[in-house]
Amino acid sequence: MKFVGAHVSTAGGVFNAPLNAKNIGAKAFALFTKNQRQWKAKPLTEEAVKKFKNNLKEVGISPKYVLPHDSYLINLGHPEEEKRRKSIEAFVDEVERCYQLGLKYLNFHPGSHLRKVSEKECLRIIADSINEILGRTKDVILVLENTAGQGSNVGYRFEHLAEIIEMVEDKSRIGVCLDTCHMFAAGYDIRTEPAYLKTMEEFDSIVGFKYLKGMHLNDAKSSFGSRVDRHQSIGKGNIGLEAFRLIMNDPRLDDIPLILETPDPSIWAEEIKLLYSLVEK
Ligand SMILES: [Zn+2]
Ligand SMILES: [Zn+2]
Repeated sequence: MKFVGAHVSTAGGVFNAPLNAKNIGAKAFALFTKNQRQWKAKPLTEEAVKKFKNNLKEVGISPKYVLPHDSYLINLGHPEEEKRRKSIEAFVDEVERCYQLGLKYLNFHPGSHLRKVSEKECLRIIADSINEILGRTKDVILVLENTAGQGSNVGYRFEHLAEIIEMVEDKSRIGVCLDTCHMFAAGYDIRTEPAYLKTMEEFDSIVGFKYLKGMHLNDAKSSFGSRVDRHQSIGKGNIGLEAFRLIMNDPRLDDIPLILETPDPSIWAEEIKLLYSLVEK
């Protein structure tokens, strides 16, 4: 069974996210547990945590279908130690917020080398950061997202994700999220059945489906292999509907959150319906 949802708003409080998910017919959702453009946030109150858990129960979504996303400011691969420390501290706070909310995952972009160190060195810095964070926190699984490779971001090759995982000491607390727009922009074709199967086989042999904890379902405004990260609504971009038909019928993608990060929230409910209509009985 597929669990499709979207990255919903937390305006008014984190506890509104489950309700916003239900309102669009979602069976899964993503959220920011704090303002994603600020370093610091007030701690979650006991009251907010309680309301979040109650609302989650009420809408009938299990924590395993919730995929929180970290702040855009964090760079665990920062080549300057002082700035990397700032990112680590902010990330530990985010892991703790997920833990408080009773959630299982925290999804993040691996990091950027800022043209100051090599990609390889950046991957090692990221793994060091992850090992420290895992040592300081409990339970929450850190979910690396593949990137489009825009700017100096690493993580646009499956090999980058595999290399990081290889260096992580506690492999029970590391996972991967595949973003379709990022895959496509990074040069992984999924537009036809043969291309889709080849890309997914490559992912399986290099990273392994056992690490796949979720997906971001986005069509692409950017072109194939462009390394440009521009999302588009499902079926309206350069990837096209066939890729999403293949995804919705791929049993390897059952029972994980499949999250829309498409640009028009007013059609998320329709996009979710559209995706479910692609499931062949
Ligand atoms: Zn994404
Ligand atoms: Zn993106």
